[in-house]
Amino acid sequence: MTSPFTMTIGGTAVDGNAFFPVVNPANGAVVADAPNCSPQQLDAAVATARNALPAWSARPVAERQKVLIAMADAVDANTEVLAGLITAEQGKPIDVARTEVFGLGYWLRETAALELPETVNQDDTERLSITRRVPLGVVAAITPWNYPLGQASFKVGPAMLAGNTVVLKPSPAAPLANLKLGEILRDVVPAGVLNVISGDDSLGAQVTAHPGFDKISFTGSTRTGKLVMAAAAQSLSRITLELGGNDPAIVLPDVDIEETAEKLFWAAFSNSGQICLAAKRIYIHADIYDELAGKLTTYARSVEVGDPTEEGVQLGPVSNRRQYDTVVGLLEDCERNGYSFLTGGLPDASSGFFIQPTLVDNPPEDSRIVQEEQFGPVLPLLRYDDLDDAIARANASQYGLGASVWSADPDVGFAVAQRIQSGTVWVNEIMHLSPLVGFGGLKQSGIGTESGLAGLLEFTESQTLTVKRSA
Ligand code: NAD
Repeated sequence: MTSPFTMTIGGTAVDGNAFFPVVNPANGAVVADAPNCSPQQLDAAVATARNALPAWSARPVAERQKVLIAMADAVDANTEVLAGLITAEQGKPIDVARTEVFGLGYWLRETAALELPETVNQDDTERLSITRRVPLGVVAAITPWNYPLGQASFKVGPAMLAGNTVVLKPSPAAPLANLKLGEILRDVVPAGVLNVISGDDSLGAQVTAHPGFDKISFTGSTRTGKLVMAAAAQSLSRITLELGGNDPAIVLPDVDIEETAEKLFWAAFSNSGQICLAAKRIYIHADIYDELAGKLTTYARSVEVGDPTEEGVQLGPVSNRRQYDTVVGLLEDCERNGYSFLTGGLPDASSGFFIQPTLVDNPPEDSRIVQEEQFGPVLPLLRYDDLDDAIARANASQYGLGASVWSADPDVGFAVAQRIQSGTVWVNEIMHLSPLVGFGGLKQSGIGTESGLAGLLEFTESQTLTVKRSA
């Protein structure tokens, strides 16, 4: 068997010896077979990344910056092919996929402009003492399927700018855009500096068990994050963990209901709810609950769900069978327990993993749909009378990734935001990310930061150099 998709190891195309199918979630067809990286090929990827390290880390930062910008240019020039692959393997509407590709180029360019700090501790006749940041070595970048290239953008640019070399391992549910990215960048990045491998469910654990990595930058579920942390203990490789969330939104009674309904819909349902920082449960003040729930319902019914390759379609299917089964399981639990759906509900059996946007009407706080991360197009609306109670319920979670507060008075919103235990809290917007601003999770939503200077520093270590100048 052969595949049009190859891995990139040491700057060259590497065929699989075995393959696994990548399924289009909109119709169940196989998009392509992807190479299943063998243990020997993983060894080769780590070895070539190790060999490339001395020359890459010795390059002046200005030269590494130029490589990142050339990568961004190459990504931009291939927007259509990359976006087409994202839509085919992950299911987001084609226009949103184009935005994701644009985001990768943008993140690479903006990351290239970041400066690694250097502190002069002492510089006099007695002593020169400087603390600088040095690269960690070979980085494993392990990503989920919800934003195949977006997730890579948070890792690849900062790791390379800091002087590390990288082995990128995308999710088996959506590896094709990443494999194509590796191919596109073969002539742009020095051989061995960026390697892209793909494999079935077992490859992630093989990567984290491999002794050749100095750093594991992982994005995925909290459950897998714990396995990554345990595996990293063997070699004490550094870790960054960007994990799951169950992000609360708190809506105060003073909001403009019509306007807020539309914003809240997209806060929760963009990418069919498959965003770590999407609103996962919405606390609405009792005074406006019925009206806002009604407007949300009307808006949800107006959204076009369908074939994501068609221009104008706003939401595609759930991205893969496993996630579809998880979301259907939560819907069945709602039905079993008699919670009512304002719109949506259990899907009809069809050829793709489509689930209509579903609103659950005020289920109990201890229900699964409130307590678990749904990561799909199902949203519980929750009524509250007392703001302190809403904040307490928002904070009563193992997770602490993102949150949002909605109020006509930004100062009041800001005061509420300060009481929420999440890595990022937005007021009157959500999911606004910037390559210059770090994000990360509190509690079991993660360890460490991505993006911005803090995200760049995660790919470095502090080193102090001291020169004694006089006796
Ligand atoms: P997942 O944890 O199942 O998989 C993530 C990645 O880890 C994949 O590449 C997978 O192949 C790999 N993997 C699987 N088992 C592994 C193991 N034992 N060791 C090492 N790697 C292993 O997550 P998913 O289903 O792909 O993604 C959805 C989850 O990701 C959700 O929980 C979501 O909240 C989270 N997520 C978090 C962020 C964030 O920034 N915090 C962003 C996006 C998604």
